[in-house]
Amino acid sequence: MSLLTLSGITKRFGGVVANQSISFGVAHGELVGIIGPNGAGKSTLFDVITGVTRADAGEVRLEERPLTGLRPDQVSRLGVGRTFQKLRPFQGMTVLENVTVGALQKCRDVNQARTEARVALEQVGLADKADAYARTLSTGQRKRLELARALATRPRLLLLDEVTGGVDQGSIPGLIRLVQDLHRAGMALVVIEHNMRVIMAIAQRIVALHLGAVIADGPPETVTRDRRVVEAYLGQAYT
Ligand code: ADP
Ligand code: MG
Repeated sequence: MSLLTLSGITKRFGGVVANQSISFGVAHGELVGIIGPNGAGKSTLFDVITGVTRADAGEVRLEERPLTGLRPDQVSRLGVGRTFQKLRPFQGMTVLENVTVGALQKCRDVNQARTEARVALEQVGLADKADAYARTLSTGQRKRLELARALATRPRLLLLDEVTGGVDQGSIPGLIRLVQDLHRAGMALVVIEHNMRVIMAIAQRIVALHLGAVIADGPPETVTRDRRVVEAYLGQAYT
């Protein structure tokens, strides 16, 4: 049985079809990359999975449990963690406080949440910034904070939305290693990523979206050579 199953997910915003009958599964422990041009519907799909927005049609299941209609905190408690493409830390809170808020989605005890938060900060290499205010962090550090916030809920499925986006080149290998470590530890991940070097290094499988629909789904080598994927997204540069 798949860990995550998407069946016929459709989401419209007025006349825009952001997700068009999207169906695919994610196996336990699998690392799936999602690629596609801006506006393809990638972030919307994460919003649908995590209860941030409600699909017009289709179903999301975590193993046998339907997630449709659940609130984000309920989805989080069932073991789905997520980072946002648009970072929104509480600027006036410290790094530790921000991550503790994340951990509180899952556990109610503040002391335990703080402990989870410290573990997560250690995991992403941000422990030395625990007492710094979030507003003082660089983009790369804020990405790590966002990741720690998601990890502090101890997810078995983690959805990463452009975790290397806007990050300086020097920080990318560390982020790749971090994602690979989580994967090796048994976590399933779905990773939206524009950096093809990153996606080729980590993904076992790639799903390509264009205009809200899946145009390719398979091994990275196959998907990146797919004519529609090259035309819609990769251009000549990658062939
Ligand atoms: P991606 O993450 O692949 O760049 P998005 O999922 O953010 O794409 O957006 C898909 C489409 O849905 C775009 O046309 C975008 O403008 C539209 N869209 C996304 N969120 C909203 C919203 N809250 N209201 C209206 N339109 C939206
Ligand atoms: Mg997006």
